[in-house]
Amino acid sequence: MSISHLEQRQQQALQESGSSLDPVDWSDYRTQGHRMLDDMFDFIENIRTRPVWQAIPSATKESIQETLPREPSSLAHVYQQFQDHILPYGVGNIHPGFMGWVHGGGTAVGMLAEMLAAGLNANLGGREQMPVEVEKQIVQWMRALFGFPHGATGLFVTGTSMANFISLLVARTAALGTGVRQTGLAQNEHKLVAYCSSAAHGCIAQAMDLAGMGIASLHIIEVNQHFQLDTQALQARIYADRLAGLTPFFIAATAGTVDVGAVDDLASISQIARAEHIWFHVDGAYGALGMLSQDVAPKLQGIQLADSIAFDFHKWGQVPYDAGFVLIRDGDLHQATFASPAAYLSRSSQGIAAGSPWPCDFGPDLSRGFRALKTWFTFKVYGADKIGQVISQTCVLAQQLKSRIEASTELELLAPVSLNIVCFRFRLPDGDDAASNKLNEALVIELQKSGLVAPSSTTLNDRTAIRAAIVNHRSNSSDIDNLVELTIKLGHMLKTNLQNRVTQ
Ligand SMILES: *Cc1c(COP(=O)(O)O)cnc(C)c1O
Repeated sequence: MSISHLEQRQQQALQESGSSLDPVDWSDYRTQGHRMLDDMFDFIENIRTRPVWQAIPSATKESIQETLPREPSSLAHVYQQFQDHILPYGVGNIHPGFMGWVHGGGTAVGMLAEMLAAGLNANLGGREQMPVEVEKQIVQWMRALFGFPHGATGLFVTGTSMANFISLLVARTAALGTGVRQTGLAQNEHKLVAYCSSAAHGCIAQAMDLAGMGIASLHIIEVNQHFQLDTQALQARIYADRLAGLTPFFIAATAGTVDVGAVDDLASISQIARAEHIWFHVDGAYGALGMLSQDVAPKLQGIQLADSIAFDFHKWGQVPYDAGFVLIRDGDLHQATFASPAAYLSRSSQGIAAGSPWPCDFGPDLSRGFRALKTWFTFKVYGADKIGQVISQTCVLAQQLKSRIEASTELELLAPVSLNIVCFRFRLPDGDDAASNKLNEALVIELQKSGLVAPSSTTLNDRTAIRAAIVNHRSNSSDIDNLVELTIKLGHMLKTNLQNRVTQ
């Protein structure tokens, strides 16, 4: 086609653009877009001046309730709604005072990369495109980080819940062969059983459920006093299960338990798994990226022997949500678990349909976003060592908090601090656990309402603990001071209230 022909076509297209969703006035959008970007930079830059979290007024919830809008609104109007009603009422995990659960802090770099990814609107199911090459690069980085072989495969997923599920399905293929994809489990002569500790995340049980194996086929092994899986109990249970005619096939160790941050003895568990011919999986949701930190990496000894590792870039890695990842040692088995022939997904050696195998051959998702980009930007801009230093620093802060608790007569440590999570409680003098549980539950809520610090709670050996998970790169010692001082202050206040109520 000649140039003038092309120009004619373009003119024609412009005249017919009535159904397009592109702005009529790009320069107006440009101005508004730049303002949004500036506002979000301001938001992140000044996050400390805001409350960590605040209760959502019912008027705010109501403000967004409406029937499906059939008519347009201006971008400016909708953005104003976002500013007024959505932005101020998040969970607070970008705030340095946030210590609830295990949430990453995100970064401005990650935010920019998300914008670029959204602009590209890439679908990473597969095909010949550089975005898929970026994901492959991250797979390669992770192979190297965890000492996995060249044939290992990896995939971005929503989070570790999905990554654990995918790992379990690949382990099922390893145990039963690919035929199980056709026949299902019902007719199978082998009754598969899996293992994890009582401190493992609930998504392991959920994965058993989703895989059709049933939660009861997950055998829960007790933990030792460090909240690590008791390896002798594991060995004994495997032995007993074999005697009972069951087929042990999957051990999920945890690198960084969600309640106290314990790391299972990965090296010993890997030995048991190898001797028993059982798949060795590591749920390293937040802990696995500790490999980037010189202080944490030695505690993960044995992770490099795993058959599969599930982890999140959106926790300790500080990449914005969501960015889960699964790494599988045996890439062929991984592909054999998910690949399927579909004519509309057929491959070619050239053109857009080249580049096989595709990410969709390694998991249940076909259409997939460009999670790899924000992860790539994060590693490139900051450097992996810097992320490692952030991880180390959160552990230093946890040790500071631990020391403050041990030095205080009012507070009491409830679990060893092996990484970045500290579980403690406000002490009641008479040691009544029921009263203490009630007080500490209320205390966590008061702390969250304070807007200054936001821990969460957990239960350890039937005792309610205040749980501070220090994950955010913005947290510093002033946040630890705030937590300690406010816990003591509010603890006394609640104790007085409690006593008044008793004497009334
Ligand atoms: C957070 C976490 C999970 C779940 O990960 P998601 O990314 O939320 O799906 C699983 N296991 C552990 C140990 C976790 O900390």
